[in-house]
Amino acid sequence: MAIVIQKFGGTSVRDASRRDVVAQWVVKAIEAGDQVVVVVSAMGRRGDPYATDTLLDLITDADLTPAAERDLLLSCGEIISAVVLASHLRRQDIPVKVLTGGEAGIITDGNFGDARILEVQPKVLQNLLQDGVVPVVAGFQGRTVEGRVTTLGRGGSDTTAVALGAALHAVVVDIFTDVDGIKTADPRIVPDARTISQLDYDEIFQLANLGARVIHPRAVEIGRQFSVPIRVRSTFSESQGTLIAPGQGTLDPWGHRDPDHAVTGITQLDHLMQFRVTPPPAMHKDWAYHLFMSLGENGVSVDLINLFPDQVYFCVPPEKTQITEQTLKDIGFGYEAYDDRAKVSIVGSAIQGLPGVVGRVMAAMAQSQIEILQSADSHSTITLLLHRRNMEKAVAALHKQFHLDEEVPKT
Ligand code: ADP
Ligand code: ASP
Ligand code: MG
Repeated sequence: MAIVIQKFGGTSVRDASRRDVVAQWVVKAIEAGDQVVVVVSAMGRRGDPYATDTLLDLITDADLTPAAERDLLLSCGEIISAVVLASHLRRQDIPVKVLTGGEAGIITDGNFGDARILEVQPKVLQNLLQDGVVPVVAGFQGRTVEGRVTTLGRGGSDTTAVALGAALHAVVVDIFTDVDGIKTADPRIVPDARTISQLDYDEIFQLANLGARVIHPRAVEIGRQFSVPIRVRSTFSESQGTLIAPGQGTLDPWGHRDPDHAVTGITQLDHLMQFRVTPPPAMHKDWAYHLFMSLGENGVSVDLINLFPDQVYFCVPPEKTQITEQTLKDIGFGYEAYDDRAKVSIVGSAIQGLPGVVGRVMAAMAQSQIEILQSADSHSTITLLLHRRNMEKAVAALHKQFHLDEEVPKT
């Protein structure tokens, strides 16, 4: 019998009628002869009673609450969801057992709020599957070796699902969500974005890492490491979704790609803090070393670094603003901070070494009169830092510039 993991996101389990639809997917897999493990996210979105953001809003002094206590609170959202969904499954006569992430064997480090999985102990789940029981696992959480509850970073139920898929040698991990697959851009910004039928781990990792929250980048990393096929699909339609699996890349085996279709997707990340930092006048030439060591020691990870002899620009996530400012003050550096920034990126394995791609990015920005504040690139990405107000316009302009609304011709 094949093992399949079915993960259902927050909107899929938001209310009773949607949970009934979810139960039908489980019934369908069982009828097809599969052994099913269900992974759930907390129910709904901010404002819904037990959603992750709603729980977070309960503690007005979230910054002062120890991270370990925040994790205890947040883990409740997925536990509630698992118990409630299990009741729907029982009504369909499915034998089920609810487990916390820790009970399901997910062991993590002690980095509360963004813990990494160290190991998955699959025995408990294997025994349940052998007995014909469907485990319903609370996503987004694990436990340390000492038994303390941790969470895996926002969006981390995807990570739970793929980690369990790897440990149980699942034939597929189905990530059920509210869109019918991974699209060429966030459909909330580009309504006519196309669903990509297949992708390799590299491109989707880049898309996810640069903001596409449809799947968590760590889930993709684990999938790649253990060659777990992942399918992103809609809970509410029969569409095929997007298959992420080895050898599903958009390049042909020789690496060719029609230059007109070299870009696979556009993604964006809202709300970044940009800093312009200058060293104190008397400081020696190694000021950048001193600066970045100090930031690192205080747990600040920086992004989009543009270093010049007398100043440096970089970005940090908004939640790191306070600690960044404090560090800069402590070491006597001058700075300006801008809180209205966003970054927009193009991703495509085929852009490496392809002349004209940067020119087309610039053309799209020029035609839309969008000012570029910083940029960065890698072999398969180009990222622009922009004013937040231009983010949506830039995503739409790049989507059009790279013909992403058109079907990619087969090579
Ligand atoms: P879930 O609660 O099911 O995990 P998420 O909100 O985490 O759902 O992810 C689904 C959302 O991701 C979609 O509603 C969509 O707005 C957003 N999204 C961002 N980029 C993309 C993309 N490239 N393709 C599809 N969805 C995207
Ligand atoms: N509920 C968690 C979050 O909102 C985890 C998830 O949805 O994957 O981040
Ligand atoms: Mg998600």
